Amino acid sequence: MAMTLDIVPVGEWGFFTLPRPMTIAGPCSAESEEQVMETARGLAERGIHVFRAGIWKPRTHPGSFEGVGVPGLKWLKRVKEETGMKVCTEVASDRHVYECLKYGIDMVWMGARTSANPFLMQQIADALYDTDIPVLVKNPVNPDLDLWIGALERLNRAGVRKLGVIHRGFSTTENIPYRNSPGWQIAIELRTRYPDLPFFADPSHMGGDRKYLLELSQRAMDLGLDGLMVESHCNPSCALSDAKQQLTPADLLTLLESLQIRAKDSGDRDYREGIDALRAQIDLIDENLLNTLASRMDVSRKIGSYKRDHNVAILQTNRWEQVVEGIKEKARRCGLSEKFAEDVYNAIHEESVRVQNEILSGGPEA
Ligand code: PEP
Ligand code: MN
Repeated sequence: MAMTLDIVPVGEWGFFTLPRPMTIAGPCSAESEEQVMETARGLAERGIHVFRAGIWKPRTHPGSFEGVGVPGLKWLKRVKEETGMKVCTEVASDRHVYECLKYGIDMVWMGARTSANPFLMQQIADALYDTDIPVLVKNPVNPDLDLWIGALERLNRAGVRKLGVIHRGFSTTENIPYRNSPGWQIAIELRTRYPDLPFFADPSHMGGDRKYLLELSQRAMDLGLDGLMVESHCNPSCALSDAKQQLTPADLLTLLESLQIRAKDSGDRDYREGIDALRAQIDLIDENLLNTLASRMDVSRKIGSYKRDHNVAILQTNRWEQVVEGIKEKARRCGLSEKFAEDVYNAIHEESVRVQNEILSGGPEA
């Protein structure tokens, strides 16, 4: 059972100005003092308050650009002093944490390869003990919600209360256009369990290409997520890492301005009354659906007893195929998708076979 998280509301961190999206932007990697300063100035001029840059880069192949290391922290310090932005970077070990604390880095995040590793997460949590800096945790590379929650729990137990998450999608072997599979349902599940946890999306690593940034960012906003972490570089095509997915500060502003932000909720009285009435209808329909399903299961049990008494096998695939075909046809006629109807009926069938088996093995009779 997951523990509850004791967190400080993001409004009290003093990092972001609302309204949504709270935005964190900056290059994939800090490459040189000039590149960091030019990008930071471009972002600060466009109203971005939180700057990111990778100092230690987890790369797939050795020999790729692995980050500039500690000297880059001095550049981040300069960004902070000259632009007033808050600065953050990725940490993947206790040593990284100590270096960041030494240079006054305002916030750190765990990368997707780190949050997937409980040993590292514990080591980092211990290094953060008794500090007050906010920590954001990217989802693990694999779609494992409990592992993600476990990483949050380790930090929270170590006293990190300014805690948030970044959804950057999951590694996949599926053939999809994006670099990582969005797996939004996992984000929604986490959001539902911890509604107060500040929730960012990282459309850059999810999409892997500039051309997907708008659609992914819009989707994150439509799902009610709080913020975005977007990679931005003063000269994206020359970037030493993730060149294809970075945006100039000017293009980032265009992107942010084209997002349609719908209110998470509305205090408007007419809206409230309208939505309450619609929700009441849904509740009623759900009740009816459940009663209907229960009646259907009763009949299934009767069929189970009948088959048993006549020594007939439970599973009769021909009959089921006919049922599904008929259902798909009816679904089409009432404007439901065939796929949806098929999925629902497969679940019903599975349960029906289970209750009939129960009867065969001497379980409760209809
Ligand atoms: C990054 O933010 O630069 C990064 C390496 O991201 P991820 O951990 O999501 O791959
Ligand atoms: Mn990157």
